[in-house]
Amino acid sequence: MNTRIDHDWHTERMKRRILVIYTGGTIGMQSTDKGYLPMAGFHDLVAQQLKTGAVDKLPKFDVIECSQLIDSANLTPTDWTQIGQLLAIHWQDYDGFVVLHGTDTMAYTASALSFILQGIDKPVILTGSQIPLLELRNDAQDNLITALLLAANYDIPEVCIYFNGRLLRGNRSSKIQSAGFDAFDSPNFPWLARVGIHIDLQQSLLLERKVPSLLIPEFDAEAVAIVQTYPGMTARPVEAMVDDTSVRGLILQTYGSGNPPDANKALIQTLQRASDRGIAVLNITQCSQGKVSQGAYATGATLNRIGVVPGADMTLEAAFAKMHYLLSQSLGVDAIRDALQRPLCGELTR
Ligand code: ASP
Repeated sequence: MNTRIDHDWHTERMKRRILVIYTGGTIGMQSTDKGYLPMAGFHDLVAQQLKTGAVDKLPKFDVIECSQLIDSANLTPTDWTQIGQLLAIHWQDYDGFVVLHGTDTMAYTASALSFILQGIDKPVILTGSQIPLLELRNDAQDNLITALLLAANYDIPEVCIYFNGRLLRGNRSSKIQSAGFDAFDSPNFPWLARVGIHIDLQQSLLLERKVPSLLIPEFDAEAVAIVQTYPGMTARPVEAMVDDTSVRGLILQTYGSGNPPDANKALIQTLQRASDRGIAVLNITQCSQGKVSQGAYATGATLNRIGVVPGADMTLEAAFAKMHYLLSQSLGVDAIRDALQRPLCGELTR
């Protein structure tokens, strides 16, 4: 994604400067005969869609528009590096950041950025919309305006998602609705803020501000695979992943409190082979709420014996991004297995 700085709006009202990074997604899409597609010129769109004078009341912000705007279904971990680099390059010049992103993989990117930017001292708020800003009836305008106001007026040293009145920790978020405006939730962690008539920020939940390193890693897009257990599954898809030498991390999504079908000996042997081959295998639950207790049942306890690491209450998105992040850090597999079980930036509850 190449970039160019598009615009600068000034207002005397608010002193803080915000950088908006537009990556694509429904918020800036247009309806075409092929379906919705991202379109360039987000700054003009905002000026055109907001009521006359409204832009002047917003915090001062610049827009950087990625030259290759994407439907976030096409996102790869390489894009995380590019977004992270944009944030790092401009970190000292702005007081807060708003990343406009498609909703489909927003929770993956928010999770990845939370690991990349650990210890930040400024807000990074991802938002987007279910209906494009261009359309008469939309959720884009509120999401954009509120994300800008949050980034400008509140000390939030975290990567967050703002969507439909909810400010959520990025690495606790999941997309839970394909069509509703309430598209995101954080089922295992309270909302950081509820936005209604008032903005009710839960200060006590926020991460501690530190000094971020802003060293943005490169990701190997093929290094992490995901496999979900299902009734009657065979070991074959897992064998293919374990035999794929580019795979160095495997996310296993098991039933309930972390239970695999352990009567399936071929599956368990394959998972054992993955551990022996130095693949970090992380067990998370398929349930949207709750955590893995690997050993509550004998089925789950089997995983303890073959080196599979319990992922507590991490979302799939956080588990996937954390695995990628740790693999990008030139750590040995034991250090990775250890770090997977510890919270790095509020992504899991011990
Ligand atoms: N497919 C779109 C995207 O993720 C959906 C959205 O933005 O709501 O880019």
